[in-house]
Amino acid sequence: MQLAESGKRTGFPAVCGRTCPQEIQCEGKCVLGIKGEPVAIGNLERFAADYERKNRMAPKLEKKPSTGKKIAVVGSGPSGLIVAHDLVQKGHEVTIFEAFHKPGGVLVYGIPEFRLPKEIVFSEVSGLEKLGVKFEYNSVVGRTVLLEELFEEGYDAIYIGVGAGLPTFLKVPGENLVGVMSANEYLTRSNLMKAYLPEYDTPITRGKNVITLGAGNVAMDAARTALRLGAEKSRIVYRRSRQEVPARALEIHHAEEEGVEFHFLTSPVKFNGNQKGRLTSMTGLKMELGEPDDSGRRRPMPIEGSEFDLECDLAIIAVGAGPNPLLTQSAEDLDLNKWGYIIVDPETGKTSREGVWAGGDIVTGSATVILAMGAGRIAADSIHKYLETGS
Ligand SMILES: Cc1cc2nc3c(=O)[nH]c(=O)nc-3n(C[C@H](O)[C@H](O)[C@H](O)COP(=O)(O)OP(=O)(O)OC[C@H]3O[C@@H](n4cnc5c(N)ncnc54)[C@H](O)[C@@H]3O)c2cc1C
Repeated sequence: MQLAESGKRTGFPAVCGRTCPQEIQCEGKCVLGIKGEPVAIGNLERFAADYERKNRMAPKLEKKPSTGKKIAVVGSGPSGLIVAHDLVQKGHEVTIFEAFHKPGGVLVYGIPEFRLPKEIVFSEVSGLEKLGVKFEYNSVVGRTVLLEELFEEGYDAIYIGVGAGLPTFLKVPGENLVGVMSANEYLTRSNLMKAYLPEYDTPITRGKNVITLGAGNVAMDAARTALRLGAEKSRIVYRRSRQEVPARALEIHHAEEEGVEFHFLTSPVKFNGNQKGRLTSMTGLKMELGEPDDSGRRRPMPIEGSEFDLECDLAIIAVGAGPNPLLTQSAEDLDLNKWGYIIVDPETGKTSREGVWAGGDIVTGSATVILAMGAGRIAADSIHKYLETGS
């Protein structure tokens, strides 16, 4: 409704139709859902977008005459892409600086091919290129180039959409063994180096007996990827119970359907290895649930003396991610909160630094595609106003 009123079309519907947790977003608001099933908005969105990609019937996106203003977007995840999408159509010159050699952010290096074919994201990127958006790959802002230097090069505004891709580790003994890695590294190697295609000789550990620590969507993606990379056993180890699993019900269903096993109420104590420094097992501790903690979920409490060993040759840590400080530490006058995320005005996306906006996971912490895109749209409107009026 708000989109219709603003005259904007939804951006990247083939992506949202596949990745959004519709049950708590659009479908969760559908009145039909009060007494029965909501309209399947997500599936309809996906169908309409796929149909359009094949048949090209919608009117082409139009571009206003050049304003001569230059915008640098840092990061080509969903928030950066939508900022470019909205601003290029207003006649501004947009360049996206991306640290990786491919665009798309988590849509490409995190979410596996079987959930979101990369071709879909690349098709959106190609649409942006046709409108005139430029991409500078292998460009780590904060290292290759600084924000100050972008202003010196003549950019009038900068949008930071660098996500929150710094993996969190468990900080238990043995985490440095060969065969223990973050979900971020595992999925990036698989997705960006095409480990899922047999003809690619990707440097990735292909475990036969894999455990994934954590039970969010990222953990489901890692455990399901492990099966596709040849694992005979892929197990999710989670310290709470099934009720507290943070992943979408649909993702859990798909994981179970494919044969992923769940070990609930188990917390990792240490990883064990052989003389060559290779992982051979994980020592776990059984847990029981106590009173709810600050998050409202029941706190897992260790059961003393319940240690046991779980054999494995690959352990994937999927217990969350934080902000990468590469850019933020190099930038002057950029206010951060205590966790290192950028503080912005939620109404505009403006940071404490004149001419710099931010949005997506680098502001909110790990969230969702649609929230990252929403933040990008708010910032794009504010940047456009700033470029037109100076405020
Ligand atoms: C495995 C996985 C599965 C997920 N599944 C879902 C899902 O099903 N549904 C959903 O809604 N959400 C999902 N999410 C969350 C969602 O993908 C993120 O919330 C969203 O991608 C955030 O978008 P963003 O644009 O802020 O950042 P990102 O998508 O992280 O993109 C940031 C981009 O910035 C680049 N970058 C970083 N630092 C620099 C720098 N210094 N200079 C230049 N470029 C830089 C990165 O390389 C990256 O390309 C998932 C996340 C993961 C990790």
